Amino acid sequence: MPELPELDVLVENLRAQLTGMRVRSVRVVSVAALKTFDPPVDVLAGHTIAGAGRRAKYVWLELDGGSGGLKSEARAQAPEAEAEPSVSPPVGRGSGGQSGLHLVMHLALGGRLTLGPKPASRKVAVLTVELDDGRVLSMTEASTQRRAAVWLVGKLDQVPGLAALGPEPLDPDFTVERLGEILAGGGHTLKGMLTDQRGMSGVGNAWSDEVLHRARMSPFARPERLGEPQVAQLHAALVQVLTEARGSLAEQVGGRIEIPRASERLFAVHGRAGAACFVCGDTIRSVWMGERETSYCPTCQTGGRVLADRRRSKFLR
Ligand SMILES: [Zn+2]
Repeated sequence: MPELPELDVLVENLRAQLTGMRVRSVRVVSVAALKTFDPPVDVLAGHTIAGAGRRAKYVWLELDGGSGGLKSEARAQAPEAEAEPSVSPPVGRGSGGQSGLHLVMHLALGGRLTLGPKPASRKVAVLTVELDDGRVLSMTEASTQRRAAVWLVGKLDQVPGLAALGPEPLDPDFTVERLGEILAGGGHTLKGMLTDQRGMSGVGNAWSDEVLHRARMSPFARPERLGEPQVAQLHAALVQVLTEARGSLAEQVGGRIEIPRASERLFAVHGRAGAACFVCGDTIRSVWMGERETSYCPTCQTGGRVLADRRRSKFLR
């Protein structure tokens, strides 16, 4: 699943490629993915894309300057949008400038967006948006799990999952103190806590492995027991790893919408079990926590200890 660095680059490129384009037609290929019915997606025909945004693992296109208000930087540069009324306006077919709609997409595990002269194959397509310059934005899902989801809403908080999200680690108000408060809640392993979108959002299985390796902390550490210096160390690792990843990915993909699965060459430990740690030379290990494989370096992170799987004991702490 794409995480914060991949999705930030994706949104940046969506904004650059699509802002100002008019929608010619929208087609829902996977009906199960569509979570809203009013307004119907056909109303998007004739609307202009005003920007793109992201929160956690949700990505959206903003049409005709709508104001959702969950994340200010997500909006196109239109300060007057702040003053728009927050009630959902009535929506007419191709009604142009007034309607303020958000096409919100959750890419789930195998989801991605592509932009090209043709729509993606029906086998993988979830939704296609044809633009008036002939290009087609396709949302696809390769996984058989079919968890990708789409909403068409006036306001972003009409998407149920968007309301319950924790802060983003690269937001300016995500301070060491804020992280400390989240960790003090406990109730998870440190790895579980970093990836729980209600605590903080945007970090998933891959980048949490990387952050913990940088912070030199065990994925099984108890978050509520971290001292102040350790919280600061973890905060620094989060900010550094995610910022570096975003920069490297942006360089790697250029202006393209097709963001690669976080490239292996960017990872220090994730998916590298059996290979040597770049920092200390020890062999990277992996351990299963529930359904997820977590990679770590024993020397860097667990005082040399090899962790036992927690597949069967996920309720033990
Ligand atoms: Zn190491």
